Amino acid sequence: MSQDQDHFRDSIGTIKEDGKRAWVFPKKPSGKFYQYRKYVSYGLLAFLILSPFIKINGNQFLMFNVLERRFNIFGFPFYPQDFHLFVISMIIGVVFIALFTVAFGRIFCGWMCPQTIFMEMVFRRIEYWIDGDRGAQMRLDRQEWNAEKIRKRVLKWSIFFIISFIIANVFLAYLIGSDRLIQYITDGPAQHISTMISLLIFTAVFYFVFAWFREQVCIIACPYGRMQGVLLDNKSIVVAYDHKRGEAENGRKKWRKNEDREALGHGDCIDCFQCVNVCPTGIDIRNGTQLECVNCTACIDECDTIMEKVNLPKGLIRYASEDEITKKEKFKFTPRLKGYTAVLIILTGVLIGMMFLRNDLEANILRLPGQLYEHKEGNIISNVYTYKLLNKTTKTVEDVQFKLISPKGEIKLVRHENFDVKPEALAEGTLFIEINAAVLSGDKNNLKIGVYSKDKLIETTTARFLAPRSYK
Ligand code: SF4
Ligand code: SF4
Repeated sequence: MSQDQDHFRDSIGTIKEDGKRAWVFPKKPSGKFYQYRKYVSYGLLAFLILSPFIKINGNQFLMFNVLERRFNIFGFPFYPQDFHLFVISMIIGVVFIALFTVAFGRIFCGWMCPQTIFMEMVFRRIEYWIDGDRGAQMRLDRQEWNAEKIRKRVLKWSIFFIISFIIANVFLAYLIGSDRLIQYITDGPAQHISTMISLLIFTAVFYFVFAWFREQVCIIACPYGRMQGVLLDNKSIVVAYDHKRGEAENGRKKWRKNEDREALGHGDCIDCFQCVNVCPTGIDIRNGTQLECVNCTACIDECDTIMEKVNLPKGLIRYASEDEITKKEKFKFTPRLKGYTAVLIILTGVLIGMMFLRNDLEANILRLPGQLYEHKEGNIISNVYTYKLLNKTTKTVEDVQFKLISPKGEIKLVRHENFDVKPEALAEGTLFIEINAAVLSGDKNNLKIGVYSKDKLIETTTARFLAPRSYK
């Protein structure tokens, strides 16, 4: 490829030479893949909107309460104490996405990414409905401000604002929990001014992204898009133009009726530019795999329609790897893919194991810093501790009691004896442990403490007990 033909690698399709934004007016996609993507998007939109309002065992299905450091994933609550589990889940997510990217390129971007789904399946479709298809949109953009343009713009921007406000509410339900969000809505915005301000800021961000920033998110801002260069190889399946077929010996050529293209050495690409016109990131896929391509499949559908019209085989643009196009090689499970899969299976196994081992009640008993021990009457040694009990369930843990399992001794709570731990709450306090010096084996002793609810052992924990050296 000559240097001149390669110039697209030095620039971004949506930025003009003078640095100004080249606004993209993509043609409305239609075809088999677009139809499938619509169904997938409806399912994912329903999932995204309903997830914060679905509960499993009283836990929100998905919640990411960063402020209070509480996370629910598929109804499974994570607390700061479970941070290791959360980190493993995140690593699994990253490996999973990396595995998919190595094998199937940016399939995630085109089919599952919320940015693409909201942009292409919600905002863009409203735009087509109000402003019309590509040609009509370009005309409206060039047109002077008249009654028609004002009416269409006000209508479009108002609907965009309302949808951004709804998305901001859903986003907030993920952040603070749907119960609290519903409570705030019931109380009215005047009661929760700061939340209302945050909500309006989120709305403004979503409005900015979907009304103006658009494909720039995928091209400039998204870190996943930037990783493509290191994850993709010639064996990755991506939306690709079959340059062998499209260019043949004498390159692409406009369509002429009754012309024997094969005999003339023309490729199957009839240079109609429909794949470029339909592209939401404004690129020409015929230049090869590019950073801007979000694998939305719109160009596959468009080119297939053209191929059908000119009676040539479909699939000039299709899901294919570079090796499949140039060497006719079929998809292979490469050593790199095998490696990622092995890591994914091991991590998933570790996570499942750790989740099964996790307790619903987390107990921590720590010696009060700076305190030694107290020698009491009857050869009794006493240490003072603070305890923390975290109830990770949505039910109250009733009638909680501490008992010393080994060695023999007594636990005395300051202020009360038995107590309840409310759902998803932390109970803290102070306690004394008293042990007869005769049963101690040295100056540092390990204790095993049982946590009981209604006399049933529900958790065990350990603690250190200090005593004078002379009792060795
Ligand atoms: S849509 Fe197909 S035929 Fe038309 S320019 Fe693109 S690749 Fe060539
Ligand atoms: S090149 Fe094709 S698949 Fe890639 S973003 Fe453009 S239309 Fe979508």
